[in-house]
Amino acid sequence: MAFQCPMNSPFDCVLLDLDDTLYPGGTGIGPALKRNIDEFLIARLGLAADRAASLRVELFRTHGSTLAGLIALGHDLHPDEYHSYVHGRLPYDRIAADPRLPALLQSIPQRKILFTNSDRAHMKKALERLGVEEACFDDVVCFETMNPHLFVEAKDDDDGASADHAVVVLKPSVDAIFAALRVAGTDPNRTLFLDDSERNITAGKALGLRTALVGKRVRSKEADYALESIGNLRRDIPEIWGAAVDELQTDHNIEENNSMRADLDSIIQLRSIQA
Ligand SMILES: [Mg+2]
Repeated sequence: MAFQCPMNSPFDCVLLDLDDTLYPGGTGIGPALKRNIDEFLIARLGLAADRAASLRVELFRTHGSTLAGLIALGHDLHPDEYHSYVHGRLPYDRIAADPRLPALLQSIPQRKILFTNSDRAHMKKALERLGVEEACFDDVVCFETMNPHLFVEAKDDDDGASADHAVVVLKPSVDAIFAALRVAGTDPNRTLFLDDSERNITAGKALGLRTALVGKRVRSKEADYALESIGNLRRDIPEIWGAAVDELQTDHNIEENNSMRADLDSIIQLRSIQA
């Protein structure tokens, strides 16, 4: 997809998270996901409900996700089996269409990359609910693209294969951020990264990205920007549009000046008639 960066924008690329970033938190998708993970752990490992919930929290803390933890611990688990269970039953109808989002995303002049830990099926369903075409993005970095090694058959005679298969690459790992930067092909400090997770923002900042924490009014220490909602992007990070914003403002100012001049003309005409 062709793109043209504004001359005076500090950014050459924008990385956008999906869940709770392109749509607001509080949809109930997050709690439903946790319930589904717990149910998966109960069904797959035969755990009691309270142990399943504590294991989920522990694996998120130690390995970044339940799936990553289970694979690292040696469970024979294919990502598709996990994702179809925990994502396949989510209440997607709670993600409301956002009529303004497609135009907002289209208006971003830089290279746009969707950067999500979610699998492709979830990404497609969430985008469909939002009314955003996948083609709106120049590229996608998702679970499958960060973890191609998990989708090839392991060879028994390859000593390195089993070790590779135990590693799941997800934000906020360095490998995940590097995967996005490779796809972006841009200088990290000219790449803007929007995400609702403070962990992910911290990781991005450590690797030199410009960062925007979404869904928060107040910046975390590592966030260059904070915006309460993606809908505030133009207002809160006008630098994305650089010269384009100046031109828009100039156009707006011209319109405003013309309108004021018309008002003044009417007053002058009225006074000359009255005089
Ligand atoms: Mg998110």
